[in-house]
Formats: sequence, C-alpha cells, structure tokens
Amino acid sequence: MRIEQEIRLDFKDVLIRPKRSTLQTRADVDLTREYTFKHSQFSWKGMPIIASNMDHTGTFAMAESLAKHKLLTAIDKFADLKEWKQFHAKHPKLHKYCFATTGIKPEDAAFLDKILKAVPTPFICIDVANGYTQRFVDCIRTLREKYPTKTLIAGNVVTAEMAEELVLAGADIIKVGIGPGSVCTTRLKTGVGYPQLSAIIECADAVHGLGGHLCADGGCVSPGDVAKAFSAGADFVMLGGMFAGHEECSGEKIQEDGKWFMRFYGMSSSEAMYKHHGRMNAYRASEGRSVNVPYRGKVENTVLDILGGLRSTCTYVGAQRLKELSKRTTFLRVTQQLNEVFAALQVNEVVNDN
Ligand code: 5GP
Repeated sequence: MRIEQEIRLDFKDVLIRPKRSTLQTRADVDLTREYTFKHSQFSWKGMPIIASNMDHTGTFAMAESLAKHKLLTAIDKFADLKEWKQFHAKHPKLHKYCFATTGIKPEDAAFLDKILKAVPTPFICIDVANGYTQRFVDCIRTLREKYPTKTLIAGNVVTAEMAEELVLAGADIIKVGIGPGSVCTTRLKTGVGYPQLSAIIECADAVHGLGGHLCADGGCVSPGDVAKAFSAGADFVMLGGMFAGHEECSGEKIQEDGKWFMRFYGMSSSEAMYKHHGRMNAYRASEGRSVNVPYRGKVENTVLDILGGLRSTCTYVGAQRLKELSKRTTFLRVTQQLNEVFAALQVNEVVNDN
C-alpha cells in the first residue's frame, strides 16, 4: 500500500481567476469548436456538450432539441432498431449529432452493426463503468479495425496511463470520470474514484499529447462547473443530471404535493438492472441511485442557461472563443464557492436575461 500526498481537486475546490479583457460583450464569444479526430480523421463542428447515454437523457427527443443548438446526444444503448430507423426517417440529417452506444459483449457488437447499417451516425460510444480491463481495450481495438472512419468515444477512466492506452488502442475521444455522477454510488460502494477536476487535467495532458480528445463525464451541477471542465482541458463535456427532468427525457412523470417530478436513475442502479436484465446478479452491488427530480419543462432553457454561462466565463477571462478558454484559465484553490445566505428563500430563477 502507498499514499499519494498531492491533493486532487473537484469543481467545488476552485474558482476561475478573472483576467483583463478587450471583449465588448459576451455575444462576441464563439462557443463552437471544430475538431478532426485522431483515428477516424472525421471533422466535426458544433457545441461540444453531450447528453449522457443514460435511459433518461439519451433519447431521440433530446437529440432533436439539442441538435437545434448543435449539441450532441449519446443515444442510450437500449434504444431499439425501429426507433433509430424512425428517427432517421423523420430527421435524415440529425444522426451527425448522435452517438450509437454499445457495451463490450458479443451481442452488443452485433446490435451496433445493425444500427450503423441503418443509420450512418459518425459517432460510437463504447461505455463501461470500469475502463481499466483488458477486455475493454481489446473491444476498442476490434471496433477500430471494423469501423476505421467512425469516431470512437471510450471510457470511463481517470488516470493518464489508461487514457493513453485507450487512445493507442484506437479511441478518438477518451471519456473521463469515475464516481462523480449525480446518481452514482461507486465511491460509496467501492471506495474507488478520482476528484473530477484533477482527473480531467491529468488525462487531458496525456490524451492531447497523443493527438486524442477528451470528454469530461459526470459531476457538473451548474453552468460554472461546465466552464471549469472546459477550462481544465476537456474538449467535450457530458451531462446527465443537468439534462434530467425535462420534457425530452424518458421515464415516469410523478406528481407529489401538487408538484411534478421525473424518475431518474443510475445505469448501474438496481432499478436499471431490473428494467434491462430482469434481475440483479447476486455477485454485484448496485452502484447507482434512483431519484425523483423536479420537472423542468423544455431542455432549451437549460441549454441557453449553460451556453450563456459559458459565454460569460469566456468574457471574464478574455477568451473570444471557447478554444482559448483553457489557455486563459488560472484556477484558484478556494474554501468557499457561494454565499448561500438567501439560497433557501429564492422564489424564481430568471434565465436568458442576456
Ligand atoms: P452527471 O452529469 O449526472 O453528474 O453524471 C453523468 C454520468 O454518470 C454518466 O454519463 C455516467 O458516466 C455516470 N453514471 C450514470 N449512471 C451511473 C451509475 O449508476 N453508476 C455510476 N457509477 N455512474 C453512473
């Protein structure tokens, strides 16, 4: 056993230092990014934010709404072929904003092949809770050989050496995050994890050194956290909880004390296990929660709130483009984030006031 003494940081441990800027207004800030991916050589331009491939958020309705603002959606892996075909028939151009999600079982590969034959989406998301297994690396290698022009996002990992290994195996984008998620209980059940801001910083350095890209996945609870993830070096940010509870999400809508809520659960929760596999294997523990989140209407308001926040962050540090944000960032370690004295008294929230 050994102990690493260096302190690792989460979003809540830092703030971004403001810098002198010549920008006139936040409307001048360009948030679109353009990437050419290492292995696929595919060039993509858009807003680098992805709705998570969870049952609740990785829906075709979400893709339809997010694509209007050029954001991406990782469609959950349980969406069936008929749904993919119907979506493609209705919106023949939107597949370029969608990831097809797959696991590492042989039947996952066969199903993925059917989807890709029916819908030419350029992105594949290979998603496992633990990206540290040889089986996962082998799966990336196989998919890389089979689909040389598809852009592969793979994870999750949190350390430089494994992020590098996944890039070398054929992944274009490395998904980073173990344990930070809003409905994740991995840290509680296993004691394993890595503070998310430090994980992004460490992996970004490694992945960029090899010409790969990085997606920060999990732990963002506010537009400020999304800005911190990009500032730390993420090329994409994936969101679950922040996109939960919207009209575009799937799942039960519940009324309690006159207020509306929506069911949201972790993909390793016992609820997800029973839903998709009809059982919970005795050898594994649930590593996810089930919660009822307040219903929040259309996702567009949330999208505009996030993009407005990001533009404002860029203005504070003098970054004319999102691309410049991490270069212009100095993080300050802090002991307090917010003044919460009236937080419980808040009556309403004004969004899109810019
Ligand atoms: P959030 O944005 O809600 O904080 O985090 C979303 C991410 O949490 C997902 O993209 C996924 O990586 C992770 N996640 C989703 N469900 C579970 C779960 O049941 N257990 C764990 N450990 N992580 C989960």
